Amino acid sequence: MSIEKLAREQVQALTPYQSARRIGGSGDVWLNANESPFDNAYTVSGQGLNRYSSCQPDALINAYADYAGVATNHVITTRGADEGIDLLLRAFCEPNQDSVLICPPTYGMYAVSAENQGIATTQVPLTADWQLDMAGIDSALEADANIKLIFVCSPNNPTGNLINRDDIETLLTRTQDRAIVVLDEAYIEFSPEATCTDLLARFENLAILRTLSKAFALAGLRCGFTLASPAIINLMLKVIPPYPVPVPVADIAEQALSEAGLARMKYQVLDLTANRAYLQAGLSMLPGVEVHPGFGNYLLITLDDADAVFARLGRAGMIVRQTAVANSLRISIGNRDECEKVLAFIRQQLSE
Ligand code: PMP
Repeated sequence: MSIEKLAREQVQALTPYQSARRIGGSGDVWLNANESPFDNAYTVSGQGLNRYSSCQPDALINAYADYAGVATNHVITTRGADEGIDLLLRAFCEPNQDSVLICPPTYGMYAVSAENQGIATTQVPLTADWQLDMAGIDSALEADANIKLIFVCSPNNPTGNLINRDDIETLLTRTQDRAIVVLDEAYIEFSPEATCTDLLARFENLAILRTLSKAFALAGLRCGFTLASPAIINLMLKVIPPYPVPVPVADIAEQALSEAGLARMKYQVLDLTANRAYLQAGLSMLPGVEVHPGFGNYLLITLDDADAVFARLGRAGMIVRQTAVANSLRISIGNRDECEKVLAFIRQQLSE
Protein backbone atom coordinates (compact mmCIF):
# COMPACT_ATOMS: atom_id res chain seq x y z
CA MET A 1 0.00 0.00 0.00
CA SER A 2 1.36 3.37 -0.91
CA ILE A 3 1.73 6.06 1.73
CA GLU A 4 -0.60 8.22 -0.38
CA LYS A 5 -3.42 5.71 0.15
CA LEU A 6 -3.03 6.00 3.92
CA ALA A 7 -3.94 9.69 3.79
CA ARG A 8 -7.46 10.96 4.39
CA GLU A 9 -9.47 10.62 1.18
CA GLN A 10 -10.18 14.33 1.21
CA VAL A 11 -6.47 15.06 1.35
CA GLN A 12 -5.70 12.61 -1.44
CA ALA A 13 -8.19 14.43 -3.65
CA LEU A 14 -7.14 17.91 -2.60
CA THR A 15 -5.68 20.40 -5.05
CA PRO A 16 -3.41 22.56 -2.91
CA TYR A 17 -3.64 26.33 -3.00
CA GLN A 18 -1.45 27.68 -5.79
CA SER A 19 0.66 29.99 -3.71
CA ALA A 20 2.48 32.66 -5.62
CA ARG A 21 5.79 31.25 -4.44
CA ARG A 22 4.88 27.82 -5.79
CA ILE A 23 4.03 28.94 -9.30
CA GLY A 24 6.16 32.04 -9.45
CA GLY A 25 8.67 31.05 -12.11
CA SER A 26 11.85 33.03 -12.38
CA GLY A 27 12.27 36.72 -12.74
CA ASP A 28 13.21 39.81 -10.86
CA VAL A 29 9.96 41.77 -11.01
CA TRP A 30 7.59 40.10 -8.57
CA LEU A 31 4.09 41.45 -8.97
CA ASN A 32 2.10 38.28 -8.38
CA ALA A 33 1.53 37.99 -4.63
CA ASN A 34 0.31 41.45 -3.59
CA GLU A 35 3.43 41.87 -1.48
CA SER A 36 4.93 45.23 -0.64
CA PRO A 37 8.07 46.32 -2.48
CA PHE A 38 9.39 47.95 0.71
CA ASP A 39 11.95 45.80 2.51
CA ASN A 40 11.97 47.53 5.90
CA ALA A 41 14.73 46.63 8.34
CA TYR A 42 14.03 45.36 11.87
CA THR A 43 16.23 44.25 14.71
CA VAL A 44 15.37 41.45 17.12
CA SER A 45 17.08 40.77 20.40
CA GLY A 46 17.36 37.04 19.80
CA GLN A 47 17.25 36.48 23.55
CA GLY A 48 14.85 34.61 25.77
CA LEU A 49 14.25 31.98 23.13
CA ASN A 50 14.76 29.15 25.63
CA ARG A 51 11.23 29.90 26.90
CA TYR A 52 7.96 29.28 25.10
CA SER A 53 6.23 32.40 23.88
CA SER A 54 3.00 33.58 25.39
CA CYS A 55 -0.04 32.30 23.46
CA GLN A 56 -1.32 35.82 22.79
CA PRO A 57 1.42 38.31 23.73
CA ASP A 58 -0.16 41.20 25.66
CA ALA A 59 1.97 43.92 24.09
CA LEU A 60 1.11 42.73 20.58
CA ILE A 61 -2.61 42.41 21.27
CA ASN A 62 -2.67 45.84 22.93
CA ALA A 63 -0.82 47.41 20.01
CA TYR A 64 -3.16 45.92 17.40
CA ALA A 65 -6.29 46.72 19.38
CA ASP A 66 -5.11 50.35 19.66
CA TYR A 67 -4.35 50.52 15.98
CA ALA A 68 -7.71 48.98 14.99
CA GLY A 69 -9.66 51.02 17.54
CA VAL A 70 -11.22 48.04 19.31
CA ALA A 71 -11.00 46.59 22.84
CA THR A 72 -8.36 43.93 23.44
CA ASN A 73 -10.93 41.18 24.01
CA HIS A 74 -11.97 41.60 20.36
CA VAL A 75 -8.52 40.59 19.04
CA ILE A 76 -6.70 37.32 18.39
CA THR A 77 -3.35 37.07 16.60
CA THR A 78 -2.65 34.20 14.20
CA ARG A 79 -0.01 33.04 11.72
CA GLY A 80 -1.21 35.27 8.96
CA ALA A 81 -4.85 35.86 8.12
CA ASP A 82 -4.74 32.38 6.59
CA GLU A 83 -4.60 30.80 10.03
CA GLY A 84 -7.58 32.94 11.06
CA ILE A 85 -9.56 31.33 8.22
CA ASP A 86 -8.47 27.88 9.34
CA LEU A 87 -9.36 28.49 13.00
CA LEU A 88 -12.81 29.85 12.15
CA LEU A 89 -13.52 26.76 10.09
CA ARG A 90 -12.33 24.49 12.89
CA ALA A 91 -14.31 26.35 15.52
CA PHE A 92 -17.61 26.58 13.62
CA CYS A 93 -17.86 23.85 11.00
CA GLU A 94 -18.55 20.20 11.65
CA PRO A 95 -16.61 18.18 9.03
CA ASN A 96 -18.79 16.33 6.52
CA GLN A 97 -21.86 18.18 7.72
CA ASP A 98 -21.51 21.96 7.71
CA SER A 99 -20.64 24.21 4.82
CA VAL A 100 -19.36 27.67 4.03
CA LEU A 101 -20.55 30.19 1.48
CA ILE A 102 -18.13 31.98 -0.79
CA CYS A 103 -18.70 34.58 -3.49
CA PRO A 104 -16.29 34.02 -6.37
CA PRO A 105 -14.23 35.40 -7.91
CA THR A 106 -12.52 35.75 -4.55
CA TYR A 107 -9.55 34.66 -2.48
CA GLY A 108 -8.86 30.97 -3.07
CA MET A 109 -7.93 29.91 0.42
CA TYR A 110 -11.49 30.01 1.79
CA ALA A 111 -12.46 27.02 -0.38
CA VAL A 112 -9.12 25.22 -0.09
CA SER A 113 -9.06 25.49 3.70
CA ALA A 114 -12.68 24.30 3.90
CA GLU A 115 -12.09 21.37 1.57
CA ASN A 116 -9.03 20.45 3.56
CA GLN A 117 -11.21 19.97 6.61
CA GLY A 118 -14.04 18.13 4.85
CA ILE A 119 -16.30 21.16 4.78
CA ALA A 120 -18.42 21.76 1.69
CA THR A 121 -18.40 25.08 -0.15
CA THR A 122 -21.50 26.71 -1.60
CA GLN A 123 -20.77 29.28 -4.26
CA VAL A 124 -22.90 32.34 -4.89
CA PRO A 125 -20.92 34.28 -7.50
CA LEU A 126 -20.61 38.03 -7.23
CA THR A 127 -22.91 40.00 -9.55
CA ALA A 128 -21.68 41.44 -12.86
CA ASP A 129 -20.38 44.51 -11.03
CA TRP A 130 -18.71 42.27 -8.44
CA GLN A 131 -21.10 42.99 -5.59
CA LEU A 132 -22.85 40.49 -3.32
CA ASP A 133 -25.81 38.73 -4.92
CA MET A 134 -28.07 39.28 -1.94
CA ALA A 135 -31.02 37.32 -3.34
CA GLY A 136 -28.72 34.46 -4.30
CA ILE A 137 -27.22 34.39 -0.82
CA ASP A 138 -30.70 34.38 0.73
CA SER A 139 -31.73 31.39 -1.36
CA ALA A 140 -28.52 29.54 -0.53
CA LEU A 141 -29.04 30.14 3.18
CA GLU A 142 -32.62 28.92 2.89
CA ALA A 143 -31.60 25.82 0.97
CA ASP A 144 -28.83 24.82 3.35
CA ALA A 145 -29.31 25.24 7.09
CA ASN A 146 -25.73 24.08 7.67
CA ILE A 147 -23.97 27.10 6.19
CA LYS A 148 -21.95 28.37 9.13
CA LEU A 149 -19.50 30.84 7.64
CA ILE A 150 -19.99 33.39 4.87
CA PHE A 151 -16.77 34.80 3.43
CA VAL A 152 -16.79 38.35 2.09
CA CYS A 153 -13.59 40.02 0.94
CA SER A 154 -13.34 43.82 0.71
CA PRO A 155 -11.30 45.09 -1.07
CA ASN A 156 -11.93 41.86 -2.92
CA ASN A 157 -9.02 39.80 -4.18
CA PRO A 158 -8.60 39.54 -7.19
CA THR A 159 -11.17 42.04 -8.51
CA GLY A 160 -9.97 44.97 -6.37
CA ASN A 161 -13.36 46.56 -5.67
CA LEU A 162 -14.99 47.32 -2.34
CA ILE A 163 -18.15 45.48 -1.30
CA ASN A 164 -21.13 47.75 -0.51
CA ARG A 165 -21.27 48.38 3.20
CA ASP A 166 -25.09 48.34 3.22
CA ASP A 167 -25.07 44.79 1.88
CA ILE A 168 -22.58 43.68 4.54
CA GLU A 169 -24.82 45.16 7.22
CA THR A 170 -27.92 43.54 5.74
CA LEU A 171 -26.13 40.21 5.59
CA LEU A 172 -25.03 40.51 9.22
CA THR A 173 -28.59 41.28 10.29
CA ARG A 174 -30.05 38.36 8.34
CA THR A 175 -27.54 35.88 9.68
CA GLN A 176 -27.58 36.82 13.36
CA ASP A 177 -27.81 33.61 15.46
CA ARG A 178 -27.41 31.63 12.29
CA ALA A 179 -23.95 32.13 10.70
CA ILE A 180 -20.71 34.09 11.03
CA VAL A 181 -19.89 36.68 8.40
CA VAL A 182 -16.13 36.58 7.88
CA LEU A 183 -15.11 39.90 6.40
CA ASP A 184 -11.61 39.78 4.95
CA GLU A 185 -9.97 43.19 5.30
CA ALA A 186 -6.45 42.06 4.33
CA TYR A 187 -6.10 45.12 2.08
CA ILE A 188 -8.03 47.63 4.17
CA GLU A 189 -5.06 49.94 4.82
CA PHE A 190 -5.29 50.93 1.15
CA SER A 191 -8.91 52.09 1.71
CA PRO A 192 -9.05 52.65 5.48
CA GLU A 193 -12.34 54.56 5.35
CA ALA A 194 -14.09 51.38 4.19
CA THR A 195 -13.38 49.37 7.32
CA CYS A 196 -16.31 47.76 9.11
CA THR A 197 -14.68 47.56 12.54
CA ASP A 198 -17.41 49.87 13.89
CA LEU A 199 -19.93 47.09 13.16
CA LEU A 200 -18.25 44.86 15.75
CA ALA A 201 -20.11 46.77 18.44
CA ARG A 202 -23.45 45.79 16.89
CA PHE A 203 -22.90 42.33 15.48
CA GLU A 204 -21.68 39.39 17.51
CA ASN A 205 -21.57 37.30 14.32
CA LEU A 206 -18.92 39.42 12.57
CA ALA A 207 -15.29 38.31 12.26
CA ILE A 208 -12.84 40.61 10.48
CA LEU A 209 -9.58 39.22 9.09
CA ARG A 210 -6.51 41.44 9.10
CA THR A 211 -2.84 40.95 8.25
CA LEU A 212 0.59 42.56 8.44
CA SER A 213 1.45 40.94 5.06
CA LYS A 214 0.25 43.72 2.79
CA ALA A 215 0.43 47.42 3.75
CA PHE A 216 2.77 46.63 6.66
CA ALA A 217 5.16 44.95 4.22
CA LEU A 218 5.62 41.87 6.42
CA ALA A 219 4.41 38.94 4.30
CA GLY A 220 7.38 36.88 5.43
CA LEU A 221 6.62 37.45 9.10
CA ARG A 222 3.36 35.48 9.02
CA CYS A 223 1.38 37.64 11.40
CA GLY A 224 -2.35 38.29 11.14
CA PHE A 225 -5.29 39.13 13.35
CA THR A 226 -8.98 38.42 13.64
CA LEU A 227 -11.21 41.09 15.15
CA ALA A 228 -14.48 39.72 16.49
CA SER A 229 -16.83 39.48 19.45
CA PRO A 230 -15.28 37.98 22.61
CA ALA A 231 -17.52 34.93 22.02
CA ILE A 232 -15.90 34.24 18.64
CA ILE A 233 -12.40 35.06 19.90
CA ASN A 234 -12.78 32.61 22.80
CA LEU A 235 -13.88 29.83 20.45
CA MET A 236 -10.87 30.48 18.20
CA LEU A 237 -8.60 30.38 21.25
CA LYS A 238 -9.95 26.92 22.01
CA VAL A 239 -8.66 25.52 18.72
CA ILE A 240 -5.45 27.50 18.17
CA PRO A 241 -2.28 25.42 18.55
CA PRO A 242 -0.15 26.17 21.61
CA TYR A 243 2.48 28.94 21.34
CA PRO A 244 1.36 30.15 17.91
CA VAL A 245 3.37 33.39 17.96
CA PRO A 246 7.16 32.99 17.78
CA VAL A 247 9.00 35.46 20.05
CA PRO A 248 10.81 37.25 17.18
CA VAL A 249 7.50 37.59 15.31
CA ALA A 250 5.86 39.37 18.24
CA ASP A 251 8.95 41.53 18.59
CA ILE A 252 8.92 42.68 14.96
CA ALA A 253 5.13 43.05 14.81
CA GLU A 254 5.22 45.34 17.85
CA GLN A 255 7.80 47.52 16.12
CA ALA A 256 5.62 47.65 13.01
CA LEU A 257 2.68 48.77 15.15
CA SER A 258 4.61 51.42 17.08
CA GLU A 259 3.95 55.08 16.35
CA ALA A 260 6.96 55.21 14.02
CA GLY A 261 5.96 51.93 12.38
CA LEU A 262 2.43 53.13 11.71
CA ALA A 263 3.70 56.42 10.29
CA ARG A 264 6.00 54.53 7.93
CA MET A 265 3.18 52.20 6.86
CA LYS A 266 0.92 55.16 6.06
CA TYR A 267 3.66 56.87 4.08
CA GLN A 268 4.33 53.69 2.10
CA VAL A 269 0.61 53.25 1.40
CA LEU A 270 0.54 56.78 -0.07
CA ASP A 271 3.53 55.93 -2.22
CA LEU A 272 1.92 52.72 -3.50
CA THR A 273 -1.37 54.49 -4.10
CA ALA A 274 0.46 56.97 -6.34
CA ASN A 275 2.05 54.06 -8.23
CA ARG A 276 -1.34 52.44 -8.59
CA ALA A 277 -2.74 55.64 -10.09
CA TYR A 278 0.23 55.79 -12.47
CA LEU A 279 -0.30 52.20 -13.60
CA GLN A 280 -4.06 52.64 -13.80
CA ALA A 281 -3.73 55.71 -16.01
CA GLY A 282 -1.04 54.18 -18.22
CA LEU A 283 -2.81 50.86 -18.75
CA SER A 284 -6.18 52.53 -19.39
CA MET A 285 -4.70 54.25 -22.41
CA LEU A 286 -3.83 50.95 -24.08
CA PRO A 287 -6.26 49.72 -26.73
CA GLY A 288 -8.31 46.70 -25.67
CA VAL A 289 -7.28 46.87 -22.02
CA GLU A 290 -9.89 47.38 -19.32
CA VAL A 291 -8.49 48.41 -15.96
CA HIS A 292 -10.91 47.68 -13.14
CA PRO A 293 -10.96 50.23 -10.33
CA GLY A 294 -8.68 48.90 -7.61
CA PHE A 295 -8.80 49.70 -3.91
CA GLY A 296 -6.00 47.42 -2.73
CA ASN A 297 -2.32 47.20 -3.71
CA TYR A 298 -3.10 45.52 -7.03
CA LEU A 299 -5.04 46.09 -10.22
CA LEU A 300 -7.09 43.63 -12.21
CA ILE A 301 -7.02 44.18 -15.93
CA THR A 302 -8.87 42.33 -18.65
CA LEU A 303 -7.57 42.08 -22.19
CA ASP A 304 -8.13 39.76 -25.14
CA ASP A 305 -4.76 38.16 -25.19
CA ALA A 306 -4.20 37.76 -21.45
CA ASP A 307 -2.65 34.28 -21.76
CA ALA A 308 -0.08 35.36 -24.30
CA VAL A 309 0.77 38.59 -22.49
CA PHE A 310 1.12 36.64 -19.22
CA ALA A 311 3.50 34.17 -20.84
CA ARG A 312 5.58 36.88 -22.48
CA LEU A 313 5.77 38.90 -19.27
CA GLY A 314 7.01 35.76 -17.52
CA ARG A 315 9.69 35.13 -20.13
CA ALA A 316 10.83 38.72 -19.65
CA GLY A 317 11.16 38.11 -15.89
CA MET A 318 8.00 39.97 -14.87
CA ILE A 319 5.76 37.75 -12.81
CA VAL A 320 2.09 38.74 -12.52
CA ARG A 321 -0.89 36.53 -11.75
CA GLN A 322 -3.71 35.05 -13.78
CA THR A 323 -7.04 34.78 -12.01
CA ALA A 324 -10.39 33.03 -12.34
CA VAL A 325 -11.76 36.10 -14.13
CA ALA A 326 -11.69 35.39 -17.87
CA ASN A 327 -8.85 37.07 -19.78
CA SER A 328 -7.50 38.77 -16.72
CA LEU A 329 -4.17 39.62 -15.19
CA ARG A 330 -3.75 40.77 -11.62
CA ILE A 331 -0.78 43.06 -11.21
CA SER A 332 0.49 43.87 -7.73
CA ILE A 333 1.66 47.43 -7.23
CA GLY A 334 5.43 47.41 -6.94
CA ASN A 335 7.87 50.29 -6.76
CA ARG A 336 7.78 52.94 -9.49
CA ASP A 337 10.51 51.29 -11.49
CA GLU A 338 8.64 47.96 -11.54
CA CYS A 339 5.37 49.66 -12.51
CA GLU A 340 7.12 51.50 -15.35
CA LYS A 341 8.73 48.29 -16.62
CA VAL A 342 5.52 46.31 -16.63
CA LEU A 343 3.55 49.13 -18.27
CA ALA A 344 6.17 49.65 -20.96
CA PHE A 345 6.32 45.92 -21.69
CA ILE A 346 2.54 45.50 -22.00
CA ARG A 347 2.32 48.63 -24.15
CA GLN A 348 4.97 47.24 -26.46
CA GLN A 349 3.29 43.82 -26.66
CA LEU A 350 -0.04 45.31 -27.60
CA SER A 351 1.43 47.53 -30.27
CA GLU A 352 3.14 44.64 -32.08
N1 PMP B 1 -6.92 37.37 2.56
C1 PMP B 1 -6.67 37.81 1.34
C2 PMP B 1 -7.76 38.46 0.57
C3 PMP B 1 -5.40 37.65 0.77
O1 PMP B 1 -5.17 38.08 -0.47
C4 PMP B 1 -4.40 37.01 1.52
C5 PMP B 1 -3.00 36.77 1.00
N2 PMP B 1 -2.74 36.96 -0.28
C6 PMP B 1 -4.71 36.57 2.80
C7 PMP B 1 -5.98 36.76 3.29
C8 PMP B 1 -3.71 35.83 3.65
O2 PMP B 1 -2.82 36.70 4.18
P1 PMP B 1 -1.70 36.24 5.21
O3 PMP B 1 -0.40 36.49 4.53
O4 PMP B 1 -1.89 37.15 6.37
O5 PMP B 1 -1.93 34.82 5.56
